[in-house]
Amino acid sequence: MTSTTAPATATPELLEVVNPATGEHVATVACTAGDEVSAIADRAREAQASWGRTPWRERARVLRRFHDLLFERADEVLDTIQSETGKSRRDALSELISVAGTARYFLAHGRRQLATRRARGALPWVTSAREVLHPRGLVGLITPWNFPFLLGIGDALPALAAGNAVLLKPSELTPRSALLARDLLLEAGLDPELLHVLVGTGAELGAPLIDAVDYIGFTGSLATGRLVAQRAAARPIPCSLELGGKNPMLVLPGANVDQAVAGLLLGSFANAGQTCIGIERVYVHAELWDDFVTAAATATASLRQGWSTGWDVDLGSLASNDHAERVRDHLRDAIERGATVVAGGLDVPEGLPETFVAPTLLTDTSDGMLLQREETFGPVVRLERVASEAEAIQRANDSEYGLNASVWAGSRRAGRHVARQLVAGSVGVNSTLLIYGSFDVPMGGTRASGIGARHGAQGMRRFCRSQSIVSSFPQRGGYEGLLGLADSPRGALLLLRAMRTLRRIPGAR
Ligand code: NAD
Repeated sequence: MTSTTAPATATPELLEVVNPATGEHVATVACTAGDEVSAIADRAREAQASWGRTPWRERARVLRRFHDLLFERADEVLDTIQSETGKSRRDALSELISVAGTARYFLAHGRRQLATRRARGALPWVTSAREVLHPRGLVGLITPWNFPFLLGIGDALPALAAGNAVLLKPSELTPRSALLARDLLLEAGLDPELLHVLVGTGAELGAPLIDAVDYIGFTGSLATGRLVAQRAAARPIPCSLELGGKNPMLVLPGANVDQAVAGLLLGSFANAGQTCIGIERVYVHAELWDDFVTAAATATASLRQGWSTGWDVDLGSLASNDHAERVRDHLRDAIERGATVVAGGLDVPEGLPETFVAPTLLTDTSDGMLLQREETFGPVVRLERVASEAEAIQRANDSEYGLNASVWAGSRRAGRHVARQLVAGSVGVNSTLLIYGSFDVPMGGTRASGIGARHGAQGMRRFCRSQSIVSSFPQRGGYEGLLGLADSPRGALLLLRAMRTLRRIPGAR
């Protein structure tokens, strides 16, 4: 076992970024001071005033160019992501692909999503209604370290496309990916004042940021999410919370075991298990149990772990020593309380530093273990045998969280039937992580997994202030004047009759 790496540390002015897989110093980045935030916000607001009036085609031009730059500068993007996270090249690539997909989706659908909607008026023919979407103004985003490029810039794209300026505070462990994303957007033609990356800790920058913006989009832990929501509520401004999960996978009769195991490997060990929608518990029907456990153990043991900027590694390190220790605490606690290790285990993989945790499968887990209910957020999964589909559903739903779930069954139809019974913001049938690439549907959590969602029309609309403009015919006092008809018993009767008839007239409902 080689020596461990130090996590990034902040001084008031400078932040040292460290590669957690190697312990190497990567860069020194200047921090933003808390008392600078309000001046930065003022400048961003000034720039937003004209950006908000810029026609869609000009905003789209920036987004399109940014999309293309992602591919032209792919190596630089992947190197940057890997250097501050220690993750594998493949995991870094998934970030680039998802950011490009987000850009592509909003380029194709953003204009329509932002268009003024004609709606039904209060009375047919003589009144009308329109819903107009305006940019909120200044959007704040606070993001975590697990997907620093994707989460750093993914939500900023629709926010900017909707005509906002953005203040983005990435995790203090991984600021460089967000800074690079900003550089690419500036190269694509974005006014530098429209997107600022605030570098530093949440303790220093969280409050001034929330106090300066018109909307706050938070992605991170439940504990911090609560603080962010409280601060947002005090102003009040709207906020979205994309929080953690304890995501279940159900393997039911009829499922193809090999395919389900392949899904498990990706769902649980992609990004070294540091994926909010990743799988941490698997309920396997007794019929498939022996085959599944054997195949999963063999496949898990064959995963390649280490540090490489090539494509020869499946899992990299975890993001920091502290986090690896937290994951090992869950594992140690489970083993001490009687869990059986069927692959991986507590030992640090040979020749690697302590930021690496072996991909691990556990059976014989039970209530009272830390990993039974808390999010582990590492490559540690528990497998449990269930006697029926109903038991699998009941146990899957027995959680504080409700972010993502995965169902493997005899057919898509059977899988979807089970999916509807799960309390989760998203469910993948024959897949574990598919939701992240499904840009046309909302992705968000229920229960303690969050409030609000990214992606889909909702992912654009949340960055807009909705305004309803209703118009009446002008004659005789307009709509309100109609009430004047009810100034006599006869007038009131006529009005009531007319209103009663409305339900029966097609086009008037
Ligand atoms: P975290 O809550 O510790 O930090 C997230 C961000 O909040 C960081 O930028 C941090 O600096 C900032 N922050 C810390 N204290 C703050 C404060 N008082 N006020 C404002 N901001 C503050 O989370 P993390 O450890 O970086 O990320 C891991 C968590 O994120 C996991 O729980 C994971 O499930 C969750 N996550 C959720 C999603 C999702 O889409 N639902 C996606 C990725 C990660």
